[in-house]
Amino acid sequence: MYDVFNSSHLYKREYADVEESSESDERPRDGFFKDQLVCFLGMKLLFCRFEVSRARWTCNTLFVPASTGETFELFSPFDGKKVAKVAEASAEDVDSAVNAAQAAFPAWSALSPIERGLPLKKMAEKITTHKSDLADLEALSMGRPVDGYFDANYAAVHFNYFGEAAYAQGHTSLNTPGFLNMSLRQPFGVVGIIIPWNAPLVFFSKKVAPAVAAGNTVVLKSSEKAPLTSWKLAQWIEECGFPPGVINVVSGHGQVSGNAISAHMKIRAISFTGSTRTGRKIQIASANSNLKKVVFELGGKGPAVIFADADLEEAAKQTEFSINYNSGQTCMANSRIYVQESAKEKFTEVFKKFASQRKIGNPRESGINHGPQADKVQYDTVLKYIALGKELGQVSLDGEANSENLTVHPVIFNDAPEDHAIMKEEIFGPVVVINTFSSEEEVIAKANDTEFGLYASLWTKDLERALRVSKKLESGMIGVNWGLVDE
Ligand code: NAD
Repeated sequence: MYDVFNSSHLYKREYADVEESSESDERPRDGFFKDQLVCFLGMKLLFCRFEVSRARWTCNTLFVPASTGETFELFSPFDGKKVAKVAEASAEDVDSAVNAAQAAFPAWSALSPIERGLPLKKMAEKITTHKSDLADLEALSMGRPVDGYFDANYAAVHFNYFGEAAYAQGHTSLNTPGFLNMSLRQPFGVVGIIIPWNAPLVFFSKKVAPAVAAGNTVVLKSSEKAPLTSWKLAQWIEECGFPPGVINVVSGHGQVSGNAISAHMKIRAISFTGSTRTGRKIQIASANSNLKKVVFELGGKGPAVIFADADLEEAAKQTEFSINYNSGQTCMANSRIYVQESAKEKFTEVFKKFASQRKIGNPRESGINHGPQADKVQYDTVLKYIALGKELGQVSLDGEANSENLTVHPVIFNDAPEDHAIMKEEIFGPVVVINTFSSEEEVIAKANDTEFGLYASLWTKDLERALRVSKKLESGMIGVNWGLVDE
């Protein structure tokens, strides 16, 4: 059993002093910055020079228990065994983390992008070296199979990329007589980060790497269902050379620590990935506190549109992978599939063949590509939707569920009414609906009839149609002849 009692991980800065000054006009290109407009009156000023300071640190790195001494227990979804005891951060702990981050910000943001990049690169190395351990921690906590665990490579690529990406370009005015207007890209200060359980390492890297590369300091809250990889990375922060206070990791539930981050007056921006329901709460907490900038990646009910001229074998293979990978717990998954009528039979047959071949079992064992749902709550939710779908009577693959190890075999529903709950709500399980369409206009209307808009895919060999339909699908991302990562 892991004792993550000390996972509420705060850095305290004890002393920082201005030691040297340097010139820097470099700012991050991507991610977490704000634009600042600076208008100079008078064209004589052609060049401006910023004097910034660096700080010298003498400080302690701390792994501290929750101030209240509270902990929560984490159980393996597959065998029910206790895997960890985890610190439950309080609002006071969040406050300490924010104070540490705020104290670290002036010196960290004054470093050059190269200097900020060095510890990011080291973190990439650490993640790569320990990828099997990281995979195992995720398998233990939320049942993600170790086979096909791409997250460590993904995270290492992100840390590496942002280790070199922090040279931002601002804008200047082209022709404003008498003025020189410049838009500078500046870090926010302290950034709050809240991540979900379905791909914790992916979201840790996707949010922390660009935020700190841009000169921000961060307070990250891991998910209560999968805190172990965040805890592991927290152990490497100091070793990689991040100054104390730059990355603070707290563990705990949405209530209290998540809410304390969303409502904190000193946090200037928040990056959140999780459910739409929680996203709403965070937006409200932001509005009720300091109107911090909020950046969301929320839920999905992604459509996949399969035209009859597509490579049906490939479309079926990839869409099956998309919905059943990670036991259907993927925000980008195509949970609604629309197949052109003439291709329905062949597509469904191949889809069913792949879905039936899933190797279901212990996620820590090699050769398994379908583990349990992340916990009992998730399992019960999925079963509730399966029961609702079965009332409709159109099931072409009816998987079993096992309440002992929380596994759910893939389920395929057909011809569900567009307004039914299984078509409208995110199930987050291995459950797909395959419906049909006859015309392009009809399928675009059906695909867009949703409150979600995260990801959509379309499958056709007709490039003109691919471009036309892509533009009409109301979705943030569109995959053309591509579903999800397939190892
Ligand atoms: P969730 O919203 O329940 O929890 C996400 C995080 O928010 C957790 O760390 C949780 O502790 C925290 N939280 C809960 N209540 C809070 C509150 N009131 N204030 C602040 N923080 C709070 O989501 P989940 O169950 O962990 O993840 C599944 C959801 O995430 C699905 O809806 C899925 O589609 C979505 N998701 C989206 C993406 C994406 O990129 N768009 C990626 C992965 C997951």
